[in-house]
Amino acid sequence: MLKIGITGNIGSGKTTVSKVFETLGIPVFYADDAAKAVMVNDPILIDGIKKTFGDESYFPDGSLNRKYIAGIVFNNDTELAKLNGLVHPATFRAFDSWVKNVKNAHYVLKEAALLFESDSYKMCDYTIMVQAPLEVRINRVIKRDGLTRAEVESRNAHQFTEEKKTSLADYVIKNDGAELVIPQVLALHQKFLLL
Ligand code: ATP
Repeated sequence: MLKIGITGNIGSGKTTVSKVFETLGIPVFYADDAAKAVMVNDPILIDGIKKTFGDESYFPDGSLNRKYIAGIVFNNDTELAKLNGLVHPATFRAFDSWVKNVKNAHYVLKEAALLFESDSYKMCDYTIMVQAPLEVRINRVIKRDGLTRAEVESRNAHQFTEEKKTSLADYVIKNDGAELVIPQVLALHQKFLLL
C-alpha cells in the first residue's frame, strides 16, 4: 500500500487538507496525536523516558507528568532532541502497526508537522507539502489557539522553513486562502490512484 506523507508548517492547514482526503475515503494517520498516545501506551518508550529523565516522568497511576517533562525540554534543545529521539521511533512503530490494520485502501496518508525534521518521510513513498504564507499562518494560529504572535513565531522557528520543506516534497498544495483546495486534493487523489 502506498504511504503518502503530508506536512506543512504551523497553521498551514495540513490537518484541514487531510480531512478533505478523509472525505474521499482515504485513511489518515495523525502523527502528532499518535505521539501523545505512545507516551502512555508504548512500554519501550515509557521505559526509555524513565531511564532518560527519571521515574518522576510518570505519576504512580501511569499517566504522564507533562509539567515535569515540559520543564526539562522547554528552551533546552539538547533535552528536546533526546525526547524526540525516543518519541519518534515509537510513533514510527505505531504507524507501522496502524498501516497493517488498514484494509481496502489504495493509499494512506501520514500527517505530521515534523515529517522532514523527524526523518519520518523516509517511511513514505511520496510527500505533500501544504503551503501558506507566514502572515496567514500566524493569524490562523492566533485565532485558533489564542497564542501571541511571538509564541507562534517561536514555534515556527523550530520547524524547517517552507522553502526547505517544499524542496524536499514531491507535491505541493497551496492553502493560502485564495487558491481553492478541493480541486488540488482531487487532482492529487486521481494521480495517487494511478500510481
Ligand atoms: P498545526 O501544525 O498548528 O496543528 P495545521 O497545519 O494542522 O496546524 P490546521 O489546524 O488545519 O493547520 O489549520 C489552522 C487553522 O486555520 C484552523 O483553525 C483551520 O480551521 C484554519 N484554516 C485552515 N485552512 C484554512 C483556509 N483555507 N481558510 C480559512 N481557514 C483555514
